[in-house]
Amino acid sequence: MQSIEMLRSVAACPVCRGSLDAGWRCAGCAREFSVVDGRPALVTHPSATADVAKDNEVVRAQARARDGSSRGGLRALADRVREMVTADLFADDRTQVRALVDAVEGTLPAGLPVVDVGACEQYYRRDLERLGPVLALDVALYGATDVIADAHAMPFRDGSLGGIVVVEVLEHLRKPWKFFEEAARTLAPGGVLLGVAPQYCPTHGFPNDYFRYTRSGLGSLAENEGLAVEAIWPIGGHWGTLLHWYWANRARENALRKVPGVGVAYHAWFQGVAKAMDVLDGHAGRGNGAPTAEHQDHVGWSFVFRKR
Ligand SMILES: [Zn+2]
Repeated sequence: MQSIEMLRSVAACPVCRGSLDAGWRCAGCAREFSVVDGRPALVTHPSATADVAKDNEVVRAQARARDGSSRGGLRALADRVREMVTADLFADDRTQVRALVDAVEGTLPAGLPVVDVGACEQYYRRDLERLGPVLALDVALYGATDVIADAHAMPFRDGSLGGIVVVEVLEHLRKPWKFFEEAARTLAPGGVLLGVAPQYCPTHGFPNDYFRYTRSGLGSLAENEGLAVEAIWPIGGHWGTLLHWYWANRARENALRKVPGVGVAYHAWFQGVAKAMDVLDGHAGRGNGAPTAEHQDHVGWSFVFRKR
């Protein structure tokens, strides 16, 4: 099934939850939703649409900057090596997503879509497709976006989704509890909410960076909406946390990093040293010992919550 047909099969008005016709007009409240570049913008109010437009400007500017700086050749090779080093040797987001998918594969209600919330360019599509057909939701329009929408007012029918994925998104939501309410509403019984959220992570995406999460905070957000906590796994140990700060806040500014290949070595050195120290310390996060009441400080958490 095409993404657009899949979307139509589960879409609802984000304001009144009425059904939407072929022209994205609500049968309940008669709102008409616009279509941007072929993708429906199922947002709740005019200012949300203005936010989308503003975000899109930022996205386009970032894309232009990226295109302008891509030099191909050695630079592209360095990027590829960096990706391999961070994804396969160290626990970056893709590693976390794979572990989450491994943990729940085959347990979701069959045939229902899995919505990647804040999907950006759908970096995890290949892994997420193991769970079901994937729909990419984002508040800004990216090439991979299927529906432009706000995580605080999801444009889906009650109980229509098999899974919802939020990777490094919860910190960017103004009212994360609203999103959990929406996740509990839109998931079908047995459906899962999977994600990764930071605890000690430098601010990023200024100004849209609002929250950090403890293990208890994440569990509480889920349980408040009746979602069962199946797993909350720590990411990174104490040294990783410390060096992650140094890396993101200070090392990033180092001119040496701009030399092709040096960034990879630099990154590997920091990640490698931190990981080795955490393993020696016995607090390396997932796969290296469960967190205890005394050790609740990590770079972040990955989690599995399930609709009962
Ligand atoms: Zn409506």
